[in-house]
Amino acid sequence: MSRQAERIRKLDARYLNPGVGPVEPLVWDHALGSVITDADGREYIDLASGTLITNLGHAHPRVVAAVAEAAARSLAFYNCSHAGRAELARRLAELTPGDLERSAFFSSGSEAVDAAVRLARLHTGRTEIVSFAGAFHGRSFTSLSVSGLGRLRQGFGPGLPGVIHAPYPDGSVTSDDGLDAVRDVLAAESGGDVAAILAEPYQGAGGVIIPPAGYWKKVEGICRKHGILLISDEVICGFGRLGRWFGFQHFGIKPDIVSMAKGLSSGYLPISATAVSASIADTLKQKGGEFVHGYTYSGHPTAAAVALKNLQMMAEERLVERVAEDIGPYFAAALSRIEAHPLIGEARSLGLIGALEIVSRKGTNQRFGGKEGTAGPLVRDACISNGLMVRAIRDTIVMCPPLVITHAEVDRLADIIERSLTEAESKLREIPAAA
Ligand code: PLP
Repeated sequence: MSRQAERIRKLDARYLNPGVGPVEPLVWDHALGSVITDADGREYIDLASGTLITNLGHAHPRVVAAVAEAAARSLAFYNCSHAGRAELARRLAELTPGDLERSAFFSSGSEAVDAAVRLARLHTGRTEIVSFAGAFHGRSFTSLSVSGLGRLRQGFGPGLPGVIHAPYPDGSVTSDDGLDAVRDVLAAESGGDVAAILAEPYQGAGGVIIPPAGYWKKVEGICRKHGILLISDEVICGFGRLGRWFGFQHFGIKPDIVSMAKGLSSGYLPISATAVSASIADTLKQKGGEFVHGYTYSGHPTAAAVALKNLQMMAEERLVERVAEDIGPYFAAALSRIEAHPLIGEARSLGLIGALEIVSRKGTNQRFGGKEGTAGPLVRDACISNGLMVRAIRDTIVMCPPLVITHAEVDRLADIIERSLTEAESKLREIPAAA
């Protein structure tokens, strides 16, 4: 590690609040397209897209120019009317299907989820929110409460009242079994006051869990039958990741409220949004909630300009179609080849989100000493030292390349992953078996 990288590491260790979480073993210097360069000049293919943000790749020159142009006009309008915000709201109304045509803007995905929960309660006059075990929806108090990862709430006291967590079905159960599990939870825990069911179309932080075919249609059916709103958290699924503009479109459903962030601006600047139908938006007027979304930085002019440019570039470069028809299937084929590696239990993918489960299916966890959570970080670190930036959720390697990734880069990343798996495998064998 260079002296500069070492100095940055020391400053992190000395001055950074540990609550920002564990950091990868590299210090970023700059990033362009699908490639990150670290402070020592080493290059890595970015298979994490930041954290599922850089759909358009890093530092697209036309977006960089749009930042400069917008910043020169104003760096702050403080939630006031301006062309960028208005045009972005219009563009989102065009992109979202049906009548999801009224947006509010925020800075983070957490705030967009908070807004979705507020709107659902206000509109229905009910208080219960059904969300899913294993889900991650953010770190504000509301979004953390609806998240189904209890360990993130440890020490913070009780969460928001009225939140019910249902099991999230993976591909090993049928859609009917998944639905029965939701019904059982409702029967056991709901007082008949459910305002909304809130879900990610596929579950990200839970380990890239893809629900069985037909499941969301059935959940949508329950919502319609009981006047429950359906909220789709599109913070990581939205903007082309699954080969449609929005993840819910892949599953053929139409939510009432949509929260979005990350891919909205390719993460170039923080901006998020919550879109609803006109009738839900009108509730705000009727019930005196006209200022509930008025954050200081809502619709920030530079962020709005960047989001608009990002959406324009995505359309011009036909990135969403590219994921559905070309690079998504190519990526899936590469993962299927990697699945043959003895360390892999299962490979799964949807569009440009992919997961390699290292220990679950072939008993390797027992073989390597029953040390759950060991293999994932070992493989991740081997990938990083071989020039591939990936994340691990326990023993699942998560892959979400920028939508601009090339075929040659997919070939290269597959080679690197196979090599890294073999390296990690020999390290795992050295770990003594658990008593
Ligand atoms: N919703 C989902 C599905 C997410 O994955 C995340 C963050 O990763 C959030 C909400 C929160 O977004 P933010 O970190 O921008 O607050």
